[in-house]
Amino acid sequence: MTDERRGPSENERLANEIQREWSFKIARFPENAMERLGIVNLLLIALEVLLIVSNNVLPLGLWKSFIHDSSHYRDRFNKAVFDQTDGSIDFTKIQSYHLWKGLVVPSLIGVSAYVITAILYLRPELYQWKPDLLQHYGHLVAESRLGRWIPTKWLNYIFNLYERRHVEYMSNTIQPADRRHVALQDRVEFTRVVRQVAINLLISIFAISLMWIVLLQAGVDTQHILVLPKSYVPPVQGLVWYLINDMFYFYPHWIAHTNPHEQKRLQIPQSLYNILHKKFKESHRLHHRCKANIGIAAWYCSVAEQMIFNLFPALLGPVLTQVLARAAGVEKIWGTHLVTLYVWIAAAASSSVMAHSGYRSIWNDPGSHDLHHERAFNPKTACNFGTLGVFDWLHGTADKLPAEETRKWQGQRDRQAALNKAAKRSGIELTKEQKSIITQPVHDQDWVRKDV
Ligand SMILES: [Zn+2]
Ligand SMILES: [Zn+2]
Repeated sequence: MTDERRGPSENERLANEIQREWSFKIARFPENAMERLGIVNLLLIALEVLLIVSNNVLPLGLWKSFIHDSSHYRDRFNKAVFDQTDGSIDFTKIQSYHLWKGLVVPSLIGVSAYVITAILYLRPELYQWKPDLLQHYGHLVAESRLGRWIPTKWLNYIFNLYERRHVEYMSNTIQPADRRHVALQDRVEFTRVVRQVAINLLISIFAISLMWIVLLQAGVDTQHILVLPKSYVPPVQGLVWYLINDMFYFYPHWIAHTNPHEQKRLQIPQSLYNILHKKFKESHRLHHRCKANIGIAAWYCSVAEQMIFNLFPALLGPVLTQVLARAAGVEKIWGTHLVTLYVWIAAAASSSVMAHSGYRSIWNDPGSHDLHHERAFNPKTACNFGTLGVFDWLHGTADKLPAEETRKWQGQRDRQAALNKAAKRSGIELTKEQKSIITQPVHDQDWVRKDV
C-alpha cells in the first residue's frame, strides 16, 4: 500500500464503504429512530410496552405501588391541611381522596415535569464559557498558593469534563451566538420570565381542578383505579388527544399571526376574524417578546394565552373522551383513566419546554418551533403554528427548512460514526477536521427571509 493511500483519505474511502454496509445502517438505526421520535414519544412507547406486559404477561405492580405510596402521602396531606381548618368550611363534605388524585397528584406531575425539563435545559447555559478561558483560570488557580495543594489530576479532570460538555452543548445549539434569549444575559428579564411562568403554573393547577370537576360530573371512574387500562386504549386515546391538542392550538395561533386581509384560507366572517386576530395577537405578543427560545420560557405568556392556547387544547381531549365514552355506554373501557391522564399531563408539559429549548440533540428536535419564533410577526413568512404538524400540513403552513436541517445534521452524525469506525479498521488516526464533523447546520438566508 502506498503512503498516500495510508493517509487520511484512506479513512474517507473506508468511511464511504462502511456507509454502504447493511450492518452499519442497522447499527445506526436506533439512534436515528430515537432522534426522529424524540424522547417524550419514546418514553410513551416504553410505557405502552410495560402496559402490554402488565396486562398480558405478568402484573408489574408498579401502578399498585404508586397508588399505595400516593395514598400514604394523601393521608399526610389530609392531616396537614384538613386538621388545621377553623371549621368555617366543612371540609368533611369534600371527598379528600378525589381532591388528592384529581388535583394534587396531576398538578404535582404537571408542574414538576415542566420545572425539571426547564432546569435540564438550562444546564447547557453553564457551559457557555470557552474552554481556553477556563484553562487560563485553571493555570492561575494551579499556580496560586492555595492551588498548589490541589492535585493537578483533579484540575485536569474538571477541565476535561467541562471541555467535553462545552463541545457537546455548543454543537447542539441551533441558535446563532448573537441571537439568544435576553433572559440569559439580563437578570431582571430572567426574573420576569420566572415570575410569569410561576403564575402560569398556578393557572394550570386551577385549570386541572376545573377539568377534574367536569370529569367527575361526567362520571369518571374513581373507584377502580388499580385496574390499569386495556393496552390498546392509551395509544388510541393518546393519538386523539394529540390531534385535538394540535387542532385547538393551531387555529387561534394561526389567527394570531396572520393579518385579516392576508388570511384567505380560513373561511370565517371577516368581522369575527378581525376581533379574534386583535385579541389573540395582543395576548400572544408576550410569548414572542424574544426571537430566540429558551426552555424555561415555554409558558412565558399572558394568563389568557396560557388558558386558550396551552391548557384548553391539552385538557380538552381527556374530558371529551370521558363524555363521549359515557354517552356511548363504553366508559368502562374507553373512559378516561387516571394513569393515562397523568402520563398525558407530564408529556404535554415537558414537550412544551422541549419545543422551546433551542438545542437539537438525539433526544429532541426543536427546529420547527424555533423557526416559528424566528419569523413570528412577519405575516408573509410566519409558519409552523401547530404542535404535531398535522394541521400545518393540512393548510400548507409548514415550512420544510427545519426538516432539511435535521436531515443534514443526521447525515453528519452518520458520517462521523462511519469515520470513527474507519479509523478503527485502518488504524490511522482521524485528522482534526474528521474528528469534528458534527455541527448544527448554519441557518441560511431562507431561515430569516423577510421579503417573500
Ligand atoms: Zn413558542
Ligand atoms: Zn406564535
